[in-house]
Amino acid sequence: MSEIAESERVTGSTADGSDTTAGMVLLVDDQPFVGEAVRRLLADQPDIAFHFCVDPRQAVDTANSVRPTVILLDLVMPGVDGLELLQRFRANADTRETPIIVLSTKEDSRVKRDAFATGASDYLIKLPDRVELQARVRYHSNACLNQRRRNEIAAALRASQRSLAERVSELQAALDEIEQLQRAKADFYSMVTHDLRNPAGNVRVATKMLLDGKGGELTPRQTQLVEIAGTAGEKMMRLITDYLDFAKIDGGYLRLDRESVDLYALLRRAAATIEPQVGLKRQHLLLSIPDGVLMADVDASKLEQSLENLLSNATKYTPEEGTITLSIESDDMRSRITVQDTGAGIDPAHQSSLFVKFHRLPGQATRAAGGTGLGLLIAKEIVEGHDGVISVQSTGVAGETTTFIVELPLRMSSLRTN
Ligand code: ADP
Repeated sequence: MSEIAESERVTGSTADGSDTTAGMVLLVDDQPFVGEAVRRLLADQPDIAFHFCVDPRQAVDTANSVRPTVILLDLVMPGVDGLELLQRFRANADTRETPIIVLSTKEDSRVKRDAFATGASDYLIKLPDRVELQARVRYHSNACLNQRRRNEIAAALRASQRSLAERVSELQAALDEIEQLQRAKADFYSMVTHDLRNPAGNVRVATKMLLDGKGGELTPRQTQLVEIAGTAGEKMMRLITDYLDFAKIDGGYLRLDRESVDLYALLRRAAATIEPQVGLKRQHLLLSIPDGVLMADVDASKLEQSLENLLSNATKYTPEEGTITLSIESDDMRSRITVQDTGAGIDPAHQSSLFVKFHRLPGQATRAAGGTGLGLLIAKEIVEGHDGVISVQSTGVAGETTTFIVELPLRMSSLRTN
């Protein structure tokens, strides 16, 4: 008699109607009556399918195609050593972990020992009692199904870890490339602006020499023309300097070299840099900086530059005789630096777009000042690079105060001494 296949009951349902997990029993035995007997013993188990293989030489191939959750294996079959077949099941990838219950006709401890040593999971005397067979089959079947589920989850986890690692390395490569491009762009800006600075500087020096009479006496018309050239040279220098600064911070490519710095001294230096501009417009520069020292971990030259931008705007957009005030207050956590002027004011409707690249507010005062629209963006990037916040307060009414506020966290190493 050839193989009897009874694998139609692959899934079943419990009394409450819910789906149950399917088990599959593969019996390998050369005696058809054993096959029939076991089939009957399992017949009332709707969630357990049964497959009978009467030819032990085909047992491994059959197992690979029916994927049993339990193998019942006869030990004594003509022409095939049951233990050897057990070994083959264990060497076969698909049945390496499948529970195998050895069926033996005798209760022999030596046979039992050999069976377990070769990889048997259990041992039953045939024909076993219905209750015992069903209980053992169910126990091993569930263990096998649980193991398969764990293997599937582990495989899915490994696959997703692999794909995550691939994504991470792709992302890292893209970031490296972006950083390289940013550097190349910044280097290009730097090179161009440096190259432009020399001729612009020469125009400034040459026009100043002409106006100082170093080239001989000038007619009023010549003086006027040289003054126009001089103003243009000045403006060119300012534009180049702003673009150079911008190049250094564009696209988040801002490198801060922090060191422990006295913030009070830094503010005084920024004020001194702006004094000539203030003097030219006969404006009043008031400083409200406490005596003593306030140490903070900052990039001194960049922070100074951002304050100079705010001070330079304050004087630029404030008429002659106006007042500019630079002050600082601090507690243990943060310092609050303010730059205040009594100039053109900033319409509240435009305040949210102030710190945007190349943004310049409409109005005559702005046009006349002839800036680049980069100063505030540079200041903001530097302040934010220090984990600080920059904001503005203004009613927008000319003559009323306009205040730029820079709030900087003071690091652990900060130290105040009065
Ligand atoms: P700019 O080179 O044009 O000064 P900024 O980025 O420094 O560029 O400033 C952007 C715009 O914000 C300026 O064009 C000006 O309209 C406005 N602004 C900045 N500071 C002040 C200020 N203190 N008072 C009035 N308007 C200001």
